[in-house]
Amino acid sequence: MNVHAKPADRRILDLKDPSLLVSQAYVAGEWVDADGGKTIAVTDPFDGALIAHVPDLGADAARRAIDKAHEVQKGWAKRTAKERSQILRRWYDLIVAHADDLALILTTEQGKPLAEAKAEVISNAAYIEWFAEEAKRIDGDVIPGANPSQRIVVLKQPVGVCAAITPWNFPNGMITRKVGPALAAGCTMVLKPAAQTPLSALALAVLAERAGIPKGAFSVITTDDAKPIGEEFCHNPKVAKITFTGSTNVGRWLMREAGDSIKRLSLELGGNAPFIVFDDADLDAAVEGAMLSKFRNAGQTCVCANRIYVQESVAPAFAEKLAAKARNLKLGRGTDAGVTMGPLIDARAVAKMEDHVADALAKGGRLLVGGKRSELGGTFFEPTVMTGITQEMKVTKEETFAPLAPIITFRDEADVIAMANDSEYGLASYFYARDMARVWRVAEALESGMVGVNTPALANEMAPFGGVKQSGLGREGSKYGIEGFLEIKYICLAGM
Ligand code: NAD
Repeated sequence: MNVHAKPADRRILDLKDPSLLVSQAYVAGEWVDADGGKTIAVTDPFDGALIAHVPDLGADAARRAIDKAHEVQKGWAKRTAKERSQILRRWYDLIVAHADDLALILTTEQGKPLAEAKAEVISNAAYIEWFAEEAKRIDGDVIPGANPSQRIVVLKQPVGVCAAITPWNFPNGMITRKVGPALAAGCTMVLKPAAQTPLSALALAVLAERAGIPKGAFSVITTDDAKPIGEEFCHNPKVAKITFTGSTNVGRWLMREAGDSIKRLSLELGGNAPFIVFDDADLDAAVEGAMLSKFRNAGQTCVCANRIYVQESVAPAFAEKLAAKARNLKLGRGTDAGVTMGPLIDARAVAKMEDHVADALAKGGRLLVGGKRSELGGTFFEPTVMTGITQEMKVTKEETFAPLAPIITFRDEADVIAMANDSEYGLASYFYARDMARVWRVAEALESGMVGVNTPALANEMAPFGGVKQSGLGREGSKYGIEGFLEIKYICLAGM
């Protein structure tokens, strides 16, 4: 608990539209409680204060939602692409119009600064806008036949009922980038958001209903017990596809479970992003980029810099500049003016950060700044910069998912590419350099789904977001992002 707050406090949100804060789940087109009234308490990670209760639903609710999603899917797919597009566009407009309220709900249940929350809401609503447009461009193909009397016709059709599972670190954005393309493609969607952050999901459902998304085409199952819902998603024959964002371990489990019925899977999993600074880089831009990449959302970002490699000759200057900026971050409640970093999501996250710092110190790492819990208490941890880091430490091998910037020095390009690629993950990587030949060489050599060159900002609705190796399967955003919700059907027209 935060030392400045009483845990018994009830957080009251000053929303312009109070109807966005709901304490019922949205199942098969109805707002419902759990049978027997079981609930989950949703709390503010700043101080543990209660925000609301939401239903703690079981597999039976997921089954009801899937049945309804199955019932309405064909009708939804039969609407013209333009009609689906217009409804999605209305949803987008409503999200943008209510961005302040959605951001306040997000910050209160997740902890990130309000400006970051609002940026999350707006930049991820853009995926709905984008896929509303893409709905009208689900083109097929006509291919010359194998003989003169034949034509090969290729249609793209929705996969059917989809199930989505999303994490707490982007409680709003991870939803719109899945539900947008699914509905655009003519699929329906049953969503299970993270138990820590269900209020953002439910607020999005309120606006989806208002936009005219048909009852049952989008359900939100809130639960504190994810496994039975995951099992229902994996084994229910009416579910055609699962789209998941979360840890690699849960992704592996879903892949195994869904294997029995050969479901389509998209997996956005963990990362261990290398962030490389070459000696020809603009050092100030690299420091700025590292700050954003590492400390945004208190380091709880799948694409955040996890290992910072700096070429020997510029390493001392880079480390000094980074430490000075990290020292200036202002920790506090996300809704307070000037706050640039919130708390970590829970005690487990703090324990992992402490473990990684202790492991690095025991193996020769040195602290430049931070390294301990903040005096604010609760789950606040000081922004931390360490030097003397090696490939053998936990900070380089595992995803820390916390505000820890470990600096590793390197000799040359070959040396750093080998270290950067020495990971089971391959989500994002970043490097700063000016020599164009080097830019091409390094961008091509890094084993990751995304490479930021002289920028920490990768995600936007027009770009294909996703990983290689054990960071996942499939892409979100861009013209590629709708493909995972479509099947290809080949029709052989003979007798021409
Ligand atoms: P997590 O895997 O523990 O949880 C993610 C979601 O899966 C939550 O909704 C959780 O309730 C659910 N879940 C857990 N076990 C389940 C089961 N057996 N069946 C069904 N659902 C289950 O991950 P987390 O700690 O909440 O999120 C952080 C992780 O997510 C990090 O590894 C991060 O890198 C990753 N992430 C990846 C991306 C990406 O785009 N690649 C984006 C954000 C987060």
